[in-house]
Amino acid sequence: MAGKKHQKTIPEETQNNTRNKIIYIILVTVLSIIALLSGKYSSEHQEESQLQVFQNQNITVSDAEFQVHVIDVGQGDSILVSADGHTMLIDAAESSAGEKIVSYLNAQNITSLDYAAATHMHADHIGGFPKVFASVKPEVMIEPVFQDSLIPTTKTYEKYLDAVEATGAEYKALKTGETFTLGNAQVTVLAPVSEHASTLNNTSLVLRIQYDDIVCLFTGDMETPEEKTILSTVDNTLLKADFLKAGHHGSDTSSGEAFLEQVQPKYVGISCGVDNKYGHPAESTLEHLKAYTDNIYITAQQGDIVFLYDKDTKNCNVVTSGKE
Ligand SMILES: [Zn+2]
Repeated sequence: MAGKKHQKTIPEETQNNTRNKIIYIILVTVLSIIALLSGKYSSEHQEESQLQVFQNQNITVSDAEFQVHVIDVGQGDSILVSADGHTMLIDAAESSAGEKIVSYLNAQNITSLDYAAATHMHADHIGGFPKVFASVKPEVMIEPVFQDSLIPTTKTYEKYLDAVEATGAEYKALKTGETFTLGNAQVTVLAPVSEHASTLNNTSLVLRIQYDDIVCLFTGDMETPEEKTILSTVDNTLLKADFLKAGHHGSDTSSGEAFLEQVQPKYVGISCGVDNKYGHPAESTLEHLKAYTDNIYITAQQGDIVFLYDKDTKNCNVVTSGKE
């Protein structure tokens, strides 16, 4: 009885205050949800509007400050990175692609390179360097460190070594943790983690290139064992990337789910030949990549693939040449 009596004695003013407080809390909650939802919508909308895709275009000289060109070289890799006019050619595909790469560089008005990078010593990555270096020389040649037992005995490798020597370029063998700059881009070597990788693919030089707000990962032919070594030894926050050059031509030996979970790519470039005998890229790899992005570009289908970043507008554009 006493309790009931006590309840009855709550002044009407206090009851009104409590009701007002509840109404206020509900109102603030509803307004916060509306604000959150509209914010999410506008940021998604903004992200969409930043991407422009131009297909079947002549790849001409662009004044974008940061550029990644995945050159259509058939079955192999050759990627031109340009930051504030400073250039690096990552791989030079097979010997047969040498002329295409030279004419591509010429069309970009490139007569010398700051860096040339050989991700690993397989013919579909180093074969074209002799032809490239005959007309476009690098100031610095970078390679991964790898154990002597993996040194190839191929003619292609011999020709590559002779061509590098003839350029007079400074030579550097790199592994995890090394950094250097390319214009205003910061280049970080993520792999090889050690010189003990047991296959040439897993010796691949893996480069993280950051320019302004954009991060790109170039993975050579790295396969899942080396991806796992990176995941367990390298700061995983370094792996998150806007652009990923998928490892090993999109093969199912690479781009493992654990690795992609850290990378979360927004754009993917895959370099491989039309109807190649390896079945690259693998359907399963494409499926794994599609969990993160629909912006997957394949040289065998779209030809040359160019990713352009404009520092002032922060816009990313993708231009593809199309196939002839
Ligand atoms: Zn390869």
